[in-house]
Amino acid sequence: MSNQQIPFNKPFLTGKETEYIEDAVMFGKISGNGDFTKKCHAFFQERYNFSKTLLTTSCTDALEMSAILVDIQPGDEVIMPAYTFVSTANAFILRGANIRFVDSREDHPGMDEDLIEELITPKTKAIVVVHYAGISCDMQKILDIADKHDLYVIEDAAQAIESYYTFPDGTRKPLGSIGHLGCFSFHETKNIIAGEGGMLVVNDEELRSRAEIIWEKGTNRSAFFRGEVDKYGWKDIGSSFLPSELTSAFLFAQLENIEKIQSRRKLIWQRYNGALSERVSELNIQSPFVPAYSTNNAHMFYLVTESYEQRTELLSYLKEKKILAVFHYLSLHKSDFFADKHDGRDLPMSDRYSDRLLRLPLYYDLTDAQQNYIIRSIKRFVEEKISDKYFLQSA
Ligand SMILES: *Cc1c(COP(=O)(O)O)cnc(C)c1O
Repeated sequence: MSNQQIPFNKPFLTGKETEYIEDAVMFGKISGNGDFTKKCHAFFQERYNFSKTLLTTSCTDALEMSAILVDIQPGDEVIMPAYTFVSTANAFILRGANIRFVDSREDHPGMDEDLIEELITPKTKAIVVVHYAGISCDMQKILDIADKHDLYVIEDAAQAIESYYTFPDGTRKPLGSIGHLGCFSFHETKNIIAGEGGMLVVNDEELRSRAEIIWEKGTNRSAFFRGEVDKYGWKDIGSSFLPSELTSAFLFAQLENIEKIQSRRKLIWQRYNGALSERVSELNIQSPFVPAYSTNNAHMFYLVTESYEQRTELLSYLKEKKILAVFHYLSLHKSDFFADKHDGRDLPMSDRYSDRLLRLPLYYDLTDAQQNYIIRSIKRFVEEKISDKYFLQSA
């Protein structure tokens, strides 16, 4: 086993994907919004009570649809975390928005909810929350701020399928169903995959009919096929956001196996956490924090090291042992594209996660033996570092 590299991710196949794709091909309807797309929509509506879902070709597309739907105009301001994927910001930049980046929390890479309100100006139009690692932001706090200032809330729930938020009054809602709009990803690095794929969840009833039009290249084609209008035409701006049936056939095979996929991922996550969290804290390495109001969908197991140097050491230590751990986002406010557009505020927590966060392999097919080997290797790293320290002190 130790001869073979353990990759960071390996896409899991249920075995039904190619069969369903073949079905779609044989059926002769392979463009978008056919039977498999409808089956996927029905799945989400049933399992999560999402009122309106639209599969897209990516979460990036769902975010771009969101920016169109909330009618972002040049000069509008949008608030979001700096520690996120480029698409979260790009979608709004494409409509001419100015982005105000928020720092992350100390206990979690998600945005610090207490820093949002001070960034609101008369030009602010929306708050985009990112449920990092599938762990919910404090949604009650965010909804209160948004209500008070009349702002849209868009959830970048790319990593958050099958994760829930519990409101202070005890009601529990799936992530993606809480803001006006929710965006999911089925990229091959996520829990449920379709190669490239995504979904927009339209929770705000007022945005529903326009969402369908934007989805279908700016036409009312969906209403036409439902027999609601006798011809269809150009109604609005839009683009080709819907995936082909080949994508939704693949996705449907995954969705049918969501419980199996999730229980395996959760088991792996728990084993990492149980075996490592206390041990690594001896080197001041932080393990994931899950607030009481959030569930954990086991999207990611990460560690936050004490320093950039320590992360580099741990990454190369693991690489030597043929274990591919990886870091994550580079804070967007410091990116080549955005640095000169940023308002100059320091975002120390976001920088901290850029410099120190490291993700461990977590995928369905990771075997117990492989995981034990990863755990042992990290424990050995900790032991070696501690004895180094002891040696230096006593020398
Ligand atoms: C993966 C991801 C995206 C992009 O998803 P795609 O489906 O690849 O477009 C956006 N935001 C976050 C937070 C992500 O993790």
